[in-house]
Amino acid sequence: MSYLVIQNLHKRYGATLVFSDIDCTVERGEFVTLLGPSGCGKSTLLRCVAGLTEVNGGRIELEGQNLLPLPPQKRGIGMVFQSYALFPNMTVAQNVAFGLRMQKVPKAENARRVAEVLELVELSELANRYPHQLSGGQSQRVALARSLVTRPRLLLLDEPLSALDARIRKHLREQIRRIQRELGLTTLFVTHDQEEALTLSDRILLMDAGRIVQNGSAEALYTQP
Ligand code: ADP
Ligand code: ADP
Repeated sequence: MSYLVIQNLHKRYGATLVFSDIDCTVERGEFVTLLGPSGCGKSTLLRCVAGLTEVNGGRIELEGQNLLPLPPQKRGIGMVFQSYALFPNMTVAQNVAFGLRMQKVPKAENARRVAEVLELVELSELANRYPHQLSGGQSQRVALARSLVTRPRLLLLDEPLSALDARIRKHLREQIRRIQRELGLTTLFVTHDQEEALTLSDRILLMDAGRIVQNGSAEALYTQP
């Protein structure tokens, strides 16, 4: 069975149907991109997996475990959003440590894990800076570090590069892919940017108007009639 299984997923906001029958899977260690135009339901699908919004039917299983009854913090999922929303009064290191403090991870281990993950995103030198002292790219790396430090079994990336300028976007894209490979992290990445999808993914799910209309490698997506 696949690592992440989404079956027959239904979601509406009030009377507005976002999708009524989504089926997809992600294998362990795979980097899958959900590509589609704005408004087609990509974010909503990620939010359903993360438990940030209720689903109206269907199943979501991770490692054979039904996720739907679990609150977000019990799902073992890390998520990064387009806007990084760091705590302004905490340093980079404190921002990253926060999730572990909530999990009551002992102080020494917490410090060790924070240092390790800051190294991974190449931010060790900026550990004592405050968010207002960071560039957009640096802030997004803090957000990434913050989600990685809890060692999630699934990473959800919701347009994490869209707010950044082109040069930084390309650099961070490569960095995300390197980290994902290094950690063997199963990743579901959302974007409306074809180039991002083509360069990052093991596999692309093409989404349109609440339906997954194609599923395959980047090459397959562009060699079909
Ligand atoms: P995408 O991520 O592909 O841009 P979204 O998942 O954000 O798409 O949105 C899918 C649809 O659901 C859109 O029509 C959007 O307007 C609607 N929608 C998203 N969030 C909400 C919400 N909180 N309440 C009502 N409608 C929403
Ligand atoms: P990058 O390209 O690495 O994402 P920038 O080119 O935007 O970053 O910034 C270059 C350097 O200036 C970085 O080391 C960053 O930490 C620093 N910097 C950016 N904005 C500020 C600020 N408001 N206060 C202090 N240092 C800053």
